[in-house]
Amino acid sequence: HAKDLGRNNYQFFRQDMNTRAVERQLIETSLRQALERGEFTLYYQPKIDLQTDCITGVEALLRWEHPEWGLVMPERFVSIAEECGLIVPIGRWVLSQACAQLVRWRDIGILDISVAVNISAVEFRHRDFFAHALAIFDATGVDPAQIQLELTESVLMHDVAASALLLGKFKAMGLQIAVDDFGTGYSSLSYLNEFPIDVLKIDQSFVKAIESGTGAGRNGAIVSAVIDMGKNLHQRVIAEGVEDVAQLAFLKDHKCNEGQGFLFSHPVNAAQMQAMLGNGWPG
Ligand code: C2E
Ligand code: MG
Ligand code: MG
Ligand code: MG
Repeated sequence: HAKDLGRNNYQFFRQDMNTRAVERQLIETSLRQALERGEFTLYYQPKIDLQTDCITGVEALLRWEHPEWGLVMPERFVSIAEECGLIVPIGRWVLSQACAQLVRWRDIGILDISVAVNISAVEFRHRDFFAHALAIFDATGVDPAQIQLELTESVLMHDVAASALLLGKFKAMGLQIAVDDFGTGYSSLSYLNEFPIDVLKIDQSFVKAIESGTGAGRNGAIVSAVIDMGKNLHQRVIAEGVEDVAQLAFLKDHKCNEGQGFLFSHPVNAAQMQAMLGNGWPG
């Protein structure tokens, strides 16, 4: 009967909610100890210049090596860390690790690469974000010109004036600014003129829509439009989530500057990344 069904569904829903709430609480409690226990690690994924096939830089991607749960992906814990404020100390750890890694690579002769670091809304709006970043650059001795900050459109748009001011300060130090997941966050493009943006990262959903064999068909229309726009605005365009050769061919055809995705490499640990950089990918 419909009534019984409804009640069953309701109970199922409640049970599911409880499980989620419990899981969430478990993650938060465990997150509180993860930093001091040294459970975080950075993986790196290369970004490839589509004209030269050289690695231009890497994106640092956070991983949590939980003693019982194994490798926990950011999608499962970053939003929880944001809600309880833990993302601020975690983000500081990420930036200092990324800078320290760049310096280690520089010391063994790996130069001319950048490291992109994802910055969450909560970190970006934290009043000490700039001061913390400066302290990390000083302590590690990194060249700030090798650091790329990845921010999403919604993070930038939350407070346009404050964002512009802060980005200006980072730009003055030589950092590069990238808009992550470009095309998914905000409907107005006018902000592109308000901020000193160096890089547009086309969201993977648009790259996925490039179908094999369709050439310049309608499915790649957004990708090619963003590439053209980036050219006109003097911004580099990176395609995220490149998984197959048809997508790569389309991106090369349309003169996209860089690609990132499983086709080139999955995110790998620092030692594996170093081997790739040292060997001069793709060899
Ligand atoms: P994102 O910054 O857009 O990073 C790209 C994500 O796409 C990464 O997932 C990467 O592993 C994945 N990816 C790369 N190539 C491909 C591909 O060819 N196909 C598919 N399907 N996926 C691909 P990951 O590492 O799980 O990170 C997910 C998100 O978590 C990131 O999205 C970013 O928003 C956030 N995140 C990661 N690390 C950090 C961090 O250190 N701090 C903060 N605040 N957020 C982070
Ligand atoms: Mg990113
Ligand atoms: Mg992205
Ligand atoms: Mg994303």
